[in-house]
Amino acid sequence: LAPATADIALIGLAVMGQNIILNMNDHGFVVCAYNRTVAKVDQFLANEAKGTNIIGAHSMKEMVDSLKKPRRVMMLVKAGSAVDAFIDQLIPLLEKGDIIIDGGNSEYQDTRRRCQRLAELGLLYVGSGVSGGEEGARYGPSLMPGGHPAAWPHIKPIFQAIAAKSGSDPCCDWVGEDGAGHFVKMVHNGIEYGDMQLICEAYHLMRDSLGMNHDEMSQVLSEWNSGELDSFLIEITANILKYKDSDGQPLLEKIRDAAGQKGTGKWTAISALDYGVPVTLIGESVFARCLSSLKDERVTASKHLKGPENAKFSGDKKEFIEQIRQALYASKIVSYAQGFMLMREAAKLFNWNLNYGGIALMWRGGCIIRSVFLGNIKEAFDKQPDLSNLLLDDFFREAIHRSQSAWREVVATAVRLGVPTPCFSTALAFYDGFRSERLPANLLQAQRDYFGAHTYELLSEPGKFVHTNWTGTG
Ligand code: NAP
Repeated sequence: LAPATADIALIGLAVMGQNIILNMNDHGFVVCAYNRTVAKVDQFLANEAKGTNIIGAHSMKEMVDSLKKPRRVMMLVKAGSAVDAFIDQLIPLLEKGDIIIDGGNSEYQDTRRRCQRLAELGLLYVGSGVSGGEEGARYGPSLMPGGHPAAWPHIKPIFQAIAAKSGSDPCCDWVGEDGAGHFVKMVHNGIEYGDMQLICEAYHLMRDSLGMNHDEMSQVLSEWNSGELDSFLIEITANILKYKDSDGQPLLEKIRDAAGQKGTGKWTAISALDYGVPVTLIGESVFARCLSSLKDERVTASKHLKGPENAKFSGDKKEFIEQIRQALYASKIVSYAQGFMLMREAAKLFNWNLNYGGIALMWRGGCIIRSVFLGNIKEAFDKQPDLSNLLLDDFFREAIHRSQSAWREVVATAVRLGVPTPCFSTALAFYDGFRSERLPANLLQAQRDYFGAHTYELLSEPGKFVHTNWTGTG
């Protein structure tokens, strides 16, 4: 029997698993590698892991026997039934107090269920969001662990060592109970959808309305990247815009304009609908991808459906570019405010004690949405941990006030020129709705009462619901 020398076992030797293992090894942890297709273990040990302290196992039993106690087993396998299959195999091999971590993109409801099931057996289950792709996994991902709180002290040293750093702070902290880590990761992915779509809308306006060329657009985004929009996504977009194909033409324009999706943005939108939270920007960003994928229908429609006569911008170009920047910034504030509203609602429903500043810090580095902006969000929650809405924080409120006339100008101009800007527009509509003391929902209530006797509440007598016979004489 091999001595129990490994600090942690990692199941799943695809791209994420291999890179996390190498990252853990770099930080001095001994990792035992395992994979369903066992041949991959030997391949990994002979190649990528050669010359490291990484060990391998050819069976689950051998893997478990190699571990120090309490045993820590992390899975980075395809989300879904593979995770349940490994849990079933692990249960008879582990003992009370041992820890199972799922680092894949599992649905938070699955994680809640697994957490509860394993807690009944005395095992500590953790569902951790892992973000940053292959590169992040290798050199510092954003990690969002949640689940059984008793597991945290045992995994904290490993997780915080391998995570990305913002200054000296690790982009990893305990998120909350049961499915909280995977929920927060899901919202992160939704926000990523929104951020990407906002940049696409800015590009669309610059390319089609302003007629800018790709080097000009790249230059503008590089400038944006040195200010309050400083972020990974703006940076890579500046690089994408200037990238030339072998014929010297921008490669970007040769890419079919039909977007794919794996579903986590959609999950965020579904949760928003389930819990009644108006996360409109992420919703629109998912629909924008759906609309884009109707490429053939759009090609046909483009031959039949007319837009405005003049689709070119005729004002001060430089000023409009700055207005687009401000519209993007204001919309981004709304998107994050909505994402945090969703997390707050889920926390209430599931009794999670979420640390919102900590979440902003976890996203500050290592992941796709990393940005200077997340540092500002962290500061907002540091100042006021019980902040009810990001829009009410002084920093963000003033930022919106500064940019709102530009934002309105951009949305109005886009409408006039016939350029779709679903996320800029929905963000503004949300802002105007959120700041309205009165909305026309009194009429909705009257309509509902008219056709369905649903009753309505009187402003003058809160809590009093009455019905009117609207076709009667009053
Ligand atoms: P993946 O392609 O999602 O999954 C491959 C791994 O899962 C392999 O180890 C494979 O084993 C195992 N597997 C698949 N089906 C299985 C089954 N039915 N039973 C047992 N094992 C099974 O790998 P990945 O891209 O490295 O991602 C791992 C997890 O991290 C996923 O949940 C993914 O969503 C998440 N994630 C990925 C990224 C990314 O950038 N790729 C970023 C963040 C999170 P075999 O070798 O035997 O087939």
